[in-house]
Amino acid sequence: MQTYFISDLHLHDARPHCVDAFVRYLAERRSEDRLYILGDLFEAWIGDDFTTPMISRVKSALEQCPAELFMQHGNRDFLIGQEFAQTCGVSLLPEECVIDIAGDRTLLMHGDSLCTKDEAYMKVRPMLRDPNFQSALLEKSIAERLQIATDARSESSEHTQSTDLDIMDVTPAAVIQTMHSHSVKTLIHGHTHRPFDHQNVLPDGTGRRLVLGDWNEYGWHITTGSTGLILERFTL
Ligand code: MN
Repeated sequence: MQTYFISDLHLHDARPHCVDAFVRYLAERRSEDRLYILGDLFEAWIGDDFTTPMISRVKSALEQCPAELFMQHGNRDFLIGQEFAQTCGVSLLPEECVIDIAGDRTLLMHGDSLCTKDEAYMKVRPMLRDPNFQSALLEKSIAERLQIATDARSESSEHTQSTDLDIMDVTPAAVIQTMHSHSVKTLIHGHTHRPFDHQNVLPDGTGRRLVLGDWNEYGWHITTGSTGLILERFTL
């Protein structure tokens, strides 16, 4: 059995090469495999009731994928719901989830909640993840929701361009606190688009933080090799 982790594919009509690559990637998995998608599979998600040819194609590729599929929400696709998950045969995981990898407790998360220096985003995050806010949003018409998503994406890209790059990375103290609170020595996350295998991230000199890359120029995944977890880059 092989376990795979991916995140931040940001699937969108404007990124057809990523959609093609993901459909191929799913077809290459085997029935004994497990695939964990750690958020931001889609660039935007306005509700399970909205579809496009791209979304339908991704849904059927997920549905046909022989591997066992798990998914966490990202800061862009946090509105993905049970309807989508059930249709695609994907299990939705909580935003912080500990799994066992070869006897090692491993924490999985998208990673946005670790970027605590991004104060503007941290302020709105609890509202965005509030079930009441989300159901009120989902009651709006598709046209209204599309407009909100477009506005949010342009605000987010302005924000990202004007924010100091260090602010968009994780805060070491938040990493330590989160890893301690789950009693883990291994963390896998995405979001920052800074793929790297960080060693010795805890004050006692232990701890490993593996960061997935986004799919654009290359694809990235983490997989379980004979020596443990490995971060790999591949051509799309
Ligand atoms: Mn993200």
